[in-house]
Amino acid sequence: MRRHMVAALVLLVATGLGAGPRTWTPEKWFDKAKSPRIANYRIEAVLDFEHKTLEGTETLSWRNTGTAPTQELPLHLYLNAFKGPQSLFVKESGGRLRSDHQDRPAEASSWGYCRLLSVRMEGRELQGHVGEDETVHWLRLPRAVAPGETIHLEITWENRYPKVFARSGWAGDFLMSGQWFPKVGVYQGDRWNCHAYHANTEFFADFGVYDVALSLPNALGLAHTGTQTNFITEIEKDPKRPLNVIWRLHAEDVHDFAWAVMPRESWRKPAMHEYRGVQVFYYIDDRHRGSFQRQRRAVENALRWSEEWYFKYPYPTLTVIDTPEQAEGADGMEYPTLITAGSVGFDPLQRRLEPEQVTVHEFGHQFFYGMLASNEFEEPWLDEGINTWFTHKALERTYHSLLSSRRFRVSTDFLEWGGYWSLPSADPLTRFGFKTLNAHSYSVTAYGKATQVLNQLEAMLGRPVMEQVMRTYAQEMAFRHPTRQDFKRIAERVSGRDLSAFWRDFVEGTEVLDYAIRGARTQEVTQGGWLFSEKGPVFAAPQPAAPGRVGSITLERKGGLKVPITLWVRLENREEQRLVWDGQDRWITYEFNSPVVAAVLDPDGNYPMLKDRLHASYTSKPVRRGFHYWSHLVWGTVAGWLQGCGIG
Ligand SMILES: [Zn+2]
Repeated sequence: MRRHMVAALVLLVATGLGAGPRTWTPEKWFDKAKSPRIANYRIEAVLDFEHKTLEGTETLSWRNTGTAPTQELPLHLYLNAFKGPQSLFVKESGGRLRSDHQDRPAEASSWGYCRLLSVRMEGRELQGHVGEDETVHWLRLPRAVAPGETIHLEITWENRYPKVFARSGWAGDFLMSGQWFPKVGVYQGDRWNCHAYHANTEFFADFGVYDVALSLPNALGLAHTGTQTNFITEIEKDPKRPLNVIWRLHAEDVHDFAWAVMPRESWRKPAMHEYRGVQVFYYIDDRHRGSFQRQRRAVENALRWSEEWYFKYPYPTLTVIDTPEQAEGADGMEYPTLITAGSVGFDPLQRRLEPEQVTVHEFGHQFFYGMLASNEFEEPWLDEGINTWFTHKALERTYHSLLSSRRFRVSTDFLEWGGYWSLPSADPLTRFGFKTLNAHSYSVTAYGKATQVLNQLEAMLGRPVMEQVMRTYAQEMAFRHPTRQDFKRIAERVSGRDLSAFWRDFVEGTEVLDYAIRGARTQEVTQGGWLFSEKGPVFAAPQPAAPGRVGSITLERKGGLKVPITLWVRLENREEQRLVWDGQDRWITYEFNSPVVAAVLDPDGNYPMLKDRLHASYTSKPVRRGFHYWSHLVWGTVAGWLQGCGIG
């Protein structure tokens, strides 16, 4: 409640300073719908905080935007992933995910569920059956629903929240309520897309309007998606529960809704700092007060760069939760208008990992997960990968590096580079998220490789064209569930280039770009030995002849990708040459009439995806391997491990 008095005050001040009248109210954000609003939810729920259970009723209004009638409708019941060890989620993850693990599996409070109590449509109770596992429930509708028609389902259900190890659940006195309500799948063409909750994939849902009323114990502070609509008067007391208050919440043109509670003063009065017309609420862990300004700077830069590069963040609010340490599994997650982005209490090195990298990354999801909303089950890289690339670019513009000193600099995509090269060929980018070799390969394809592939595309197209490609893709495909074909089509149209070879090699392929200078040789040119003349053979002692010394250099293609690559050489006679090798054979030797003193493969940086820069250059003088070299080597070793943590 107090939080919104602060909000109202800031609003008054901002208006007084000439910020202009708002175009939104908490009950109505947009005059014109931004999305097709296919799946709309009206939810009422009561939380039993002590027992970590929730009772809910929801009205789902769903419109068939497919091309055929359907008489069935699947609901995601995501919390059933934590119902027991038989779920696909637990079997696939082994109870470990995203640097957290399941605690005390023998205790009932570690597990949770989402139990449907009743589903009614047009006055009739619906029957159904379990899908791939209990995280999907298929309902049989009383009649076929034609394209264009809207139906309303009345659903009652109850949740028990698990102890959090993957995104949703409780830890101590913190509760993250994500993936918490029965949620319809996506109907496309004449079929439903509604995968089970897998360990390595996230979500896919249609856009809509959410109106959510939560009855919560009044000691709790609430962080939530969207705006609160009943703050102007007073939060209502729950007439049925004297210790509860009802929070009424609203969101438009989003495809999910999440909230979290904690009985802390800092949660009842979150800091609010408006930036570029967006009310940003910060729920800070008291132990991290010191890094709050770092987190705020990261959020504001992410808002700024995304607006300059794609389009303005259109929602009126953004909520940033600094997840408590015991709830690490809930950290680094994105929901519409709400992110969990931890910070740190002690950070003498000022690495830009937390809060900067995580915060910028989770904010970036507002675009690629939130508004573009590709199918994360099937094409996770369109969200995670493009967003990781955005993170790298935004960090580079704001901070220049992840970690730097006078002697070295760790680039902002270094973890992705190291992650990619730790397992480059297991899966193509096109693999479904839950069908990759393992969790590590999921993280490589969704995050690391995708970032490198976009770097590669940028090197091909040039920065201005790439910026135009990304801007056009974001603007044209917002609220439309783009696929990789949409990305390719737009990139080709904007750049005027045929990208089929690039697509085959980097997006659909698993081969690597790995060229190296195998070695250079210098030989003395001598003449002499037995010469035949009319008088018979004559011996002359071999001695130096023109041009004196010659050189050669051998290039090797170690990877499967064949691309033309440039070699620059400088010879002892000071001559410089640029040669282009088509890379069709496994090796080639070039000969010169003077020894090679220096050589560089790909001197123009046309291939950011080239594996081994250490062996892409040659000098005849011995190399002194200084601190720069060794620090990169050490970072390279830890990079794969860090990537495996699946930050974000
Ligand atoms: Zn992410």
